[in-house]
Amino acid sequence: MNLRELIQRIKNSFSPQEQLPNEAVLGFLRLLEETQDEEMSCDEIYEKLDEYVEQEVNKKDAARLMPLIREHLDLCPDCCEEYEVLLDVIEKTDEK
Ligand SMILES: [Zn+2]
Repeated sequence: MNLRELIQRIKNSFSPQEQLPNEAVLGFLRLLEETQDEEMSCDEIYEKLDEYVEQEVNKKDAARLMPLIREHLDLCPDCCEEYEVLLDVIEKTDEK
């Protein structure tokens, strides 16, 4: 079960016409989101980044195989930069 999807679904269940969800609910959602962020730290991404890039270079669907990494790269400029550098390096290595 994708936690982020679940959070979105809970958020969507509050229609704009209804009164705003109470603080307890909002606090709970915030907690869920923080937990989700901790699930995949930058360190963990770094560890798997070469594997991810390898798959991408080999024309495999890396984003589908490792969606958590793709998601993290979209959200984290630091890791995204690292990813682009790595991709560049590996592509140049392959050309030789
Ligand atoms: Zn990161």
